[in-house]
Amino acid sequence: MEKNYIPELEQIVNPEDVITSFEERLTYSYDSTRLEYMPDVVVKVQTAEQVSRIMKLANDYKIPVTPRGAATGLSGGCLCVNGGISLVMVEMNKILDINPIDLLATVEAGVITENVGKAVEHLNLFYPPDPGSMKSSTIGGNIAENAGGLRGLKYGVTKDYVNSIEIVLPTGEIVNMGSNTVKAVTGYNLVDLICGSEGTLGIITKATLGLLPVPADRVSILAFFKDMTDAAKTVRDIVAEGVITATLEIVDKVTINAIEDFLKIGLDRTVGAMLLIEVDGQKGAVEIEADIVLKVCKSNNALSVREAKSAQERDKLWEARRAALSSLSRIRPSTILEDATVQRSKMVDLINAVNEIAQKYKMMIGTFGHAGDGNLHPTILTDLRIPEEAEKTEKVIEEIFKATIALGGTLSGEHGIGITKAQYLKLELSRPVYDLMGKIKSAFDPNNILNPEKMKCIWSA
Ligand SMILES: Cc1cc2nc3c(=O)[nH]c(=O)nc-3n(C[C@H](O)[C@H](O)[C@H](O)COP(=O)(O)OP(=O)(O)OC[C@H]3O[C@@H](n4cnc5c(N)ncnc54)[C@H](O)[C@@H]3O)c2cc1C
Repeated sequence: MEKNYIPELEQIVNPEDVITSFEERLTYSYDSTRLEYMPDVVVKVQTAEQVSRIMKLANDYKIPVTPRGAATGLSGGCLCVNGGISLVMVEMNKILDINPIDLLATVEAGVITENVGKAVEHLNLFYPPDPGSMKSSTIGGNIAENAGGLRGLKYGVTKDYVNSIEIVLPTGEIVNMGSNTVKAVTGYNLVDLICGSEGTLGIITKATLGLLPVPADRVSILAFFKDMTDAAKTVRDIVAEGVITATLEIVDKVTINAIEDFLKIGLDRTVGAMLLIEVDGQKGAVEIEADIVLKVCKSNNALSVREAKSAQERDKLWEARRAALSSLSRIRPSTILEDATVQRSKMVDLINAVNEIAQKYKMMIGTFGHAGDGNLHPTILTDLRIPEEAEKTEKVIEEIFKATIALGGTLSGEHGIGITKAQYLKLELSRPVYDLMGKIKSAFDPNNILNPEKMKCIWSA
């Protein structure tokens, strides 16, 4: 640290919210990746005004600032690559307003995702985006990553529910963007620009989010197949039959076994793939759609298919799906969760490509994901402490991304680029588009102090 700006930070927030001790900073040097970068100082904020003053100070001293939500990010976004300030948003956690007439909730950025839904359930409303991490992730982190979830196929992702936001610009001004009207086309769509900007363009301090009425009925269906190909064809055919299910999740054999080892809920270990499907809507309509789903499963050679018999069984099935990553991570010391996404029609090809790569490198890969969205999570089970395995893992990741791009897909469906995928950006973005992104970044952040080094492409490598 060249200049001692700590006393000035202590005048902006409570001195106990400025953390400088090595031991405490260590906690903030990690997120949910395997990476570690130590911040010079950790600052917990409670108001947008504090964030604004910190950004002005950071510009004066040219200190990097990295916003941090719950650190559940899977691309290293909240890590302080260049040191500087780790700006902790989790204490800005008030639900400010619920408006059942206009179906809106206004919340501070540090509110835990699940708590938005809990705050409106008594009104028979729900907040649709449901990332697997919803019990701990924050709304600010969800907006920054444009988080998706299990309900993405029918209900969309975070950006589809962000009406307006308050952000602090990297230069310190507090500004409001968007509108809480149903329609709004005034000016550029800056809210959508901030959604998915990974904390590089502004610090989200407040958001007004859209809500929906809870569907009257829902049915969960569990189907087992001999392999992933039959399961993936079923996904394609369900949508082709005109049924947009609320969720349509795929789980492969490796993951089924890992979940069963962990939760012991009686999943069939002999099968090659499992689909977890939920249909929701009005009562009669749900019955008709569930029938279509059952028929499509059978016509694609399902080994068995059935509806959950009770709400408890339904909840147990979804709990099993949400435990996929934690179950896999018990198998080997290192778990690398990838996020490859293709069109639904190309999912069979992507699954085949991942299998071929796994065989070529003799690497264990468990695959599960939001099949309805074509968003797969091939999860590489490895040991990065062993240099040969680490090298092999890098090659596997690169080949998965190359296959994804060759199929017309994208590097990330929901976890973002951050630092973990920066080296692959050039596979997908053209130079003019990347340069345009750089100009947008400079317009927001002339001193490049907000979350530097993220989404940064290395063209020469
Ligand atoms: C078990 C598990 C399951 C997951 N499941 C899903 C899933 O289903 N779908 C999905 O999309 N993701 C999933 N994720 C990834 C992760 O939860 C999401 O990316 C989430 O949106 C991150 O929120 P966070 O509050 O933890 O943010 P952090 O990890 O703290 O930060 C993520 C990024 O957001 C920025 N940021 C945080 N707060 C703000 C703010 N207020 N203003 C500006 N920038 C900010 C950070 O700088 C960083 O770049 C999962 C992660 C885990 C560990």
